[in-house]
Amino acid sequence: MAGRVAVRCPHETEIGVYLLGSLDPGDRAEMQTHLAGCWLCRGTLAELEWLPGLLSQLTQQAFIGAPDSPAEPPSPTSAAARRGVTRSVAVDSRTSVQACVTVTPVATGSHLLLTLSGADPGQRCQLIAIGKDGRQEVTASWMTTDGGQAQVAGSTSLTSGQVQRLLVTALKGKALVSLPTPV
Ligand SMILES: [Zn+2]
Repeated sequence: MAGRVAVRCPHETEIGVYLLGSLDPGDRAEMQTHLAGCWLCRGTLAELEWLPGLLSQLTQQAFIGAPDSPAEPPSPTSAAARRGVTRSVAVDSRTSVQACVTVTPVATGSHLLLTLSGADPGQRCQLIAIGKDGRQEVTASWMTTDGGQAQVAGSTSLTSGQVQRLLVTALKGKALVSLPTPV
């Protein structure tokens, strides 16, 4: 083993197509096999599955009257990019905790979606947003599952451009994984 830590997976770009059911059967089976073994793609899948629901909620709550064309099903990635959605992924080599956070701009700051795996089971955790000005906000707290996983939504008053990095900690403050500036 070369000990390579992949923080980006080439298959990620196919997930939107996979979700829309546009892959042919061979590629689809291949993607399902890949998803079983790739936490990064599973994270991307989870966030893309959530985004349409989240965005339609936001549309109802905050953007009534904004032009929308529900008849057009664009690729989720391009729809996300148009709305200024950014993302940060990281693997901590010491704790083996893997995390992916999607940052979606909202009127009050940012909405965060975290997919986490590799943590100790039944552990209380927090997601902390750290601003470029040093400001820190606890955006979410939760208990990991028996499998050491979590899928959590949180929010912060920081805009995506103000977020320097994101930190997942156990409640006693032990850092589980530090995520870089979302891009
Ligand atoms: Zn992958």
